[in-house]
Amino acid sequence: MAVRSRSPQRPDDLVVEVTEADAGAVAAAVERARAAGGRWAAASALERSAALGDAADALAGAAGEVTDLMVREVGKPVTEAAAETGRGVGILRYYAQQALDPDGETYPGPGPAALLLARRRPRGVAGMITPWNFPVAIPLWKAAPALAFGNAVVLKPSPEATGVALRLAELLAPALPDDLLQVVPGGPETGQALVEAVDCVSFTGSVAVGRQVALAATGLGIPSQAEMGGLNAAIVLPDADPERAAGVVAAAAMGYAGQKCTATSRAVVVGDPGPFTEALVAAVRGLAVGDPAEPSTVVGPVITEPARRRVVEAATEAAAGGGRLLTGGQAGDGDGWFVAPTLVDGLAPDARLAQEEVFGPIAVVLAVADEDEAVAVANGVRYGLAGSVFTRDLDRALRLAARLDTGLIRVNAPTSGVDYLAPFGGEKDSSFGPREQGKAARDFYTSTRTITILPQEG
Ligand code: NAD
Repeated sequence: MAVRSRSPQRPDDLVVEVTEADAGAVAAAVERARAAGGRWAAASALERSAALGDAADALAGAAGEVTDLMVREVGKPVTEAAAETGRGVGILRYYAQQALDPDGETYPGPGPAALLLARRRPRGVAGMITPWNFPVAIPLWKAAPALAFGNAVVLKPSPEATGVALRLAELLAPALPDDLLQVVPGGPETGQALVEAVDCVSFTGSVAVGRQVALAATGLGIPSQAEMGGLNAAIVLPDADPERAAGVVAAAAMGYAGQKCTATSRAVVVGDPGPFTEALVAAVRGLAVGDPAEPSTVVGPVITEPARRRVVEAATEAAAGGGRLLTGGQAGDGDGWFVAPTLVDGLAPDARLAQEEVFGPIAVVLAVADEDEAVAVANGVRYGLAGSVFTRDLDRALRLAARLDTGLIRVNAPTSGVDYLAPFGGEKDSSFGPREQGKAARDFYTSTRTITILPQEG
C-alpha cells in the first residue's frame, strides 16, 4: 500500500508517495531503534545535548525549505508556518539544555553517610503518533525531550504530513546516531503496529483515535499519553473592548482555517451580544483568505475534501436547526479545499455545532446572561483543552480562571498559542496521561530507579 500526500490548495500536486510501513517494517524499525537507543542512553548527557544542539542548527539552516514544504503539504499560511519552523528550532535548543538538568533527587537515608537516590532513566523506544496540523512542532515537542532523556524515537506521522516528517528526519539524521530517530509512514494499521512494538507511546490527534491508542497501550502495559480535540470557548465580559476582543477571537477561530486543537470554536458573550457580534463578523470578513504561500494570508484551505464537506454540512445543519448564519457557510470556488470562514449565532448551547469539534473555520456565538451561565456553558462540553476570558477586571478574570475546567486558561489572549517551555495539555476528553512540553515532559519519557547506598560499616 502506498501513502500519498497531496497539497490541499492544489490537490493535483502530489507532494509525496511512499510505501506504507507494514507490521514487519515497523517491528524492524523499532528493533533498530532499540539497539541505537541502548548506546544513546549510555552516552553522556553532554553528548546528547550537543547532538540536539546540532539538530537545532540543521533545522535552522533549512528553515526556509521546511517552511515552504509545510505550506505546500498542509496548506498552513506561510507566516504561521515560518513561526512553527522557528518554534521547532527553539524546542530542540530548549531540550538540548534540559538534557543537562539534574537527573534525579537525593532523599534522607538511614544514616548521615547513607545515600538514597531516585535517578531518572529512559523508557527505551518512544513511539509517536502525530496529526498533520503542526507537522514540525508536534513531532519535535515529543521527540526532543524523548531524545534528551536517552530514548530512541519512532514516529508515525499523519499520512497528510508524510513529506514534512520524512524531510525532518533526513535533516536531523547527520546530528544523531544512525537509527535513533526513524519515521514509519502509514495510516491506522501502521499506528497500531507501532503501539505493539514500543516501550511508551505519545499520541496527538482526535479523541476517538486517542482513546483507542491509550486503551491498546494500557492492555500492553506500556505508558501512554494522548492530547486530543478541543472545543475551546472565549468568554467575553461586558467590560471588555468589543473590537479588540473580536479581533483576537476572529484570528483564534479562523487562523489556519481553524485547524488547531486550541482554536476558538465558541464565543460566549455575557450581556448584550450585539456590539461584540457585529465587531466579530467584521473582523472575520476582514481576514485574508487564499493562497497560503502569500505572506498576508490568514485563512488557507482545509486539509482534504471531506474536511471541507464537514464544515459546509455543519453550517447547513446549524442553519436548519434554528441558527443564524452570520457569515460564510459555503465552499470556495476553484481548485483547493477552501471554505469561507463561518460564524453562526442563535443556537442553543446543546446544539451539535456547540458540542462537537468540526476542525475547520467555523465558530458559534452564544449569548449568556451572567458570569455563572458563562461558566456553565463554557464547561458544558466533553472537551477541556483551552479557554480564554476577555475583561479589564482582574478580579473577574481570576474568578473565572479558577472555575474553567480547561488545561490552558488565557486572559485577554487567544485560546490558540502554546508555550513550549510550560506544561501543555487538557482536561476531560481532551487529554489522557501526563502533560507534554516544558519540564513536565520528563515525567513521561523517563521512569525512576530508587537506589540505596550504605557505608559498609558505621
Ligand atoms: P486523527 O486522530 O485522525 O489522526 C492522528 C494520528 O493517528 C494520525 O497519524 C493517524 O494516522 C493515526 N491513527 C489513526 N487511526 C489510528 C489507529 N487506529 N491506531 C493508531 N494510530 C491511528 O487526527 P488528525 O485528523 O490527524 O488531527 C486532527 C485532530 O487532532 C483534531 O481532533 C485536533 O483537535 C487534534 N489535535 C490535538 C492537539 C492537542 O495537542 N491536543 C494538537 C493538534 C491536533
